[in-house]
Amino acid sequence: MGYAQTQGEVSMKRRAISKKERSDIRTLMKFVGIFCMENHDGEKVPFSFKMLDIKEIEKAEIPLCQDCTRLLSYGLTMRLKCPHDPKPMCKKCETQCYHGEYKAKIREVMKFSGMYMIKHGRLDMLYHYLR
Ligand SMILES: [Zn+2]
Repeated sequence: MGYAQTQGEVSMKRRAISKKERSDIRTLMKFVGIFCMENHDGEKVPFSFKMLDIKEIEKAEIPLCQDCTRLLSYGLTMRLKCPHDPKPMCKKCETQCYHGEYKAKIREVMKFSGMYMIKHGRLDMLYHYLR
């Protein structure tokens, strides 16, 4: 808690993120969180990420299984590494930074959680992602 910077924190690879990045990251976290909650049982751990202070972005904890933790870490890393500004929609982008199993998986997650949000009246979030 607090903003006191210990030496350990300074040496970590953190940087300031833009408002846009922040909202994309938040959306990604919600989508993967919903997907895991609805589809996976078993042991889950609140998501944390070494490049960012997740709590600054989303106060609620997002418990994820191991697979979803891996997927979300990958997604956030890719989002932070996105070379385009402004970022195009991923499916229209020439870079295609999601590869192999991650690409298939994130599609599944987006589709599932998108439907979930429609059913639960969360069009505000959906709009945000599809704009
Ligand atoms: Zn999961």
